[in-house]
Amino acid sequence: MTASFNPPQRILMGPGPSDVSPRVLAAMARPTIGHLDPVFVSMMDELKGLLQYAFQTKNELTMPVSGPGSAGMETCFVNLVEPGDKVIVCQNGVFGGRMKENVERCGATPIMVMDDWGAAVDANKVEDALKANPGVKAVAFVHAETSTGAQSDAQAISALAHRYGALSLVDTVTSLGGSPLKVDEWGIDAIYSGSQKCLSCTPGLSPVSFSAQALEIIKNRKTKVQSWFMDLNLVMGYWGTGAKRAYHHTAPINALYGLHESLVILQEEGLENAWARHRQNHMALKAGIEAMGLSFVVKEQDRLPQLNSIYVPEGVDDAAVRRLLLEDYGLEIGAGLGAMAGKIWRIGLMGHASNMRNVLVCLGALEDVLSRLGASINKGVAVAAARKVYS
Ligand SMILES: *Cc1c(COP(=O)(O)O)cnc(C)c1O
Repeated sequence: MTASFNPPQRILMGPGPSDVSPRVLAAMARPTIGHLDPVFVSMMDELKGLLQYAFQTKNELTMPVSGPGSAGMETCFVNLVEPGDKVIVCQNGVFGGRMKENVERCGATPIMVMDDWGAAVDANKVEDALKANPGVKAVAFVHAETSTGAQSDAQAISALAHRYGALSLVDTVTSLGGSPLKVDEWGIDAIYSGSQKCLSCTPGLSPVSFSAQALEIIKNRKTKVQSWFMDLNLVMGYWGTGAKRAYHHTAPINALYGLHESLVILQEEGLENAWARHRQNHMALKAGIEAMGLSFVVKEQDRLPQLNSIYVPEGVDDAAVRRLLLEDYGLEIGAGLGAMAGKIWRIGLMGHASNMRNVLVCLGALEDVLSRLGASINKGVAVAAARKVYS
């Protein structure tokens, strides 16, 4: 007989998922009710309001897609992009590459604006691309590149897109709830995020929001959206306003309870306070990491507080360090992706996991493991340096 599955308790300090609040897990264990039950429908309305707060938007079309961040990404592209369109895609890490794939699969042409991994998107290059390619439908970019820890100026790039008559399409999977993001003030037209990063909900839901202008474009498409499941014209029949809702697909009921709870927690803390907490814990981790003699990949002004990329010291086995952290401390940190595999670690300080205890435990554990593996680091100083930031 197969026994029940009982996962160990971990500390999740990688690129996501992050530690889920016990309140969120408890919410998800509440009774399943029908997806058209009036009580459920009023929870959906609350959820929409909570998401509008998190995104800082009044956009009517604001909802969670039933699927992970990648499903939110695809929802944005398949609804806005039609065959023959041109879309500028900024790539400075893994996720811009996925945007390119999406544009191509919509039968459109991606115009790539490339920046180095670890650098922010260069707005000057975006403007050059807009000048050279009149009639571009949208400018797509990643606000918080989780593969490198670099943050780009979403406000400046969105403003540029508008100046040239294009929409802005922004990946905020890692930024939502962790660092400043203001959809209406910054003029973002299409945005997607994820439940498992700075919102600290379980993986599998992707909040999205669309401006009135984006919505007009979706309503007036020449061709049908290639994906039946993601066609917002159909999904709106369920997530739209009013009491009249029609079955589209069965909503992931209990997962939505979890997202609702995670957003209630965010609202209780206050968005600005959550951003400040992420920044403070980043500053403490940074103080400890640098005191140890390790260095950051991204230059200071472009660093994300919730995703800290650090170079693996010379001669140290990346995988051995991560294995010992997991075995001895139950602590998960992230490895490098693509060209950065084996060269960097990605330490997440996301959502519920962004707290003083985790920063101090991580620094102490990292020092212990690196010392045991014979790395030449400064010993006995990291935790004290971090503590100073908190006092
Ligand atoms: C995690 C992540 C995604 C993908 O989200 P999934 O939930 O894994 O599908 C997309 N973009 C960025 C920037 C991410 O960090």
